[in-house]
Amino acid sequence: MPTPATSAPAAPAAPAGTLPELFARQQVRAAALRQEPLDARAARLRRLSAWVADNRAAIQQALYSDFRKPAPETDVTEIWSTQTEIKHTLRHLHQWARPRKVGTPLSLVGTRGWVQYEPKGVCLIIAPWNYPFYLALDPLVSALAAGNCCIIKPSEMTPTVAALLSRMCREVFDPAEVTVVEGDKDAATELLALPFNHIFFTGSPQVGKIVMRAAAEHLSSVTLELGGKSPVVVDDTADLRDAAEKIVWGKGLNAGQTCVAPDYLLVHEAVRDQLVQEIREVVQRFYNPEGQGVAASGSFARIVNDHHYARVAGLLTEAREQGATVALGGQTDAAQRFIEPTVLLNVPAGSRLMQEEIFGPLLPIRSFRTLPEAVEEVNARPHPLALYVFSQHKDNQRYLLRNIPAGGACVNETILHLGHPELPFGGLGNSGLGRAHGLAGFQAFSNEKSVLQQRVGLTGLKPIYPPYTPKVKKL
Ligand code: NAD
Repeated sequence: MPTPATSAPAAPAAPAGTLPELFARQQVRAAALRQEPLDARAARLRRLSAWVADNRAAIQQALYSDFRKPAPETDVTEIWSTQTEIKHTLRHLHQWARPRKVGTPLSLVGTRGWVQYEPKGVCLIIAPWNYPFYLALDPLVSALAAGNCCIIKPSEMTPTVAALLSRMCREVFDPAEVTVVEGDKDAATELLALPFNHIFFTGSPQVGKIVMRAAAEHLSSVTLELGGKSPVVVDDTADLRDAAEKIVWGKGLNAGQTCVAPDYLLVHEAVRDQLVQEIREVVQRFYNPEGQGVAASGSFARIVNDHHYARVAGLLTEAREQGATVALGGQTDAAQRFIEPTVLLNVPAGSRLMQEEIFGPLLPIRSFRTLPEAVEEVNARPHPLALYVFSQHKDNQRYLLRNIPAGGACVNETILHLGHPELPFGGLGNSGLGRAHGLAGFQAFSNEKSVLQQRVGLTGLKPIYPPYTPKVKKL
């Protein structure tokens, strides 16, 4: 394990074993990490990658234990996604970290200018429960690549994964570099009182506001990866079979508990019934191939806890009471925290189902006649994290992309933009602030230091020095 440089300052005194003491130790180590070559950062990432590879079964078990996440889904969305981020970062780290030269304007002739990246220092990562492994480690990869120390606060709602992350950190890192603090919002509140150099929060917009308020106290920079209602717009030129497959996959993944899950569908009225039929066939094929019901499927996760089960089941009951009709699914089982993939029609725009992020396998469908109508409906809500467009008509694709502000978008696909390492990922307004993944993640955890170098003896623009002459006044 790396040792701190001898020139590092002594840790400020704080009671042993407290969060302020841990923080102070990380501040000391962060100063030492600034001196390290990039290879030391790369070595840390390689150790992390090796641990993930060696502990695949334990990761699968932890996810299954917390919400019966199917192992193949864990492989793709927790393990493979983490390893992909590490590989991509290792491949590009030297290039990203290289100082970036800038041109020199005539007025500053003789000088040289560049941007150099330096670590921010000690960073806090607060993670949610829905992809509890990947969403703790993905920002960690960027933070380590940028040369920082880190405290991770996993979600208390996935306790088995939180314990596994703690073990991983103990086995892979010196706690002065990376450590996990387990606990609920009280632990998060205690951490947020510390003057972190960057806070990377993934979770709900409501808690995002609390985090941003706490960060303001120390003027800590923040990345906020939040949620919201991500719409799918399907026009009358879309390939409906293809659209149905991608929508059902995106919604069924993690039982709908995905930040970029298709939240609701806006479908051209001429193709609505046909799309519902296609969705019915895909749900059958994906989750009920033996005809024994979706509950018997090994490919469909459960709702994470009783609180969220009651919330999602409540949205379903309330929408039905308000006149929505169930076109597909609708079965629930509180003991299993199981909610069937459910398609609802005739859902009132003012219902909670159409106002709140669903975060479960309910899919309300509303129809439109013209694209401006669809745009107006989406834009009446806060800016989404993701926009999904299904259309074979290039002008319609362009129209929707241009007129609906969103953090990211896919055309004729769902979810996959999240997995593209070259695409910065993040939200807009209510769905987030800042960008993650790859270069964007590296930059989020780095300070871009702008440097101007003057040649000794050259004094730049003489006329700007006092005593001021009428010539300067004219500038
Ligand atoms: P959450 O906001 O309830 O909790 C997230 C984290 O914040 C947890 O670690 C929790 O312990 C902590 N927390 C809770 N209350 C807090 C408080 N008062 N002060 C400080 N910290 C507090 O979110 P969640 O339920 O875990 O996750 C679901 C939400 O996260 C959804 O809105 C989803 O869309 C969003 N999400 C976004 C992304 C993204 O990348 N944009 C990814 C996954 C989830």
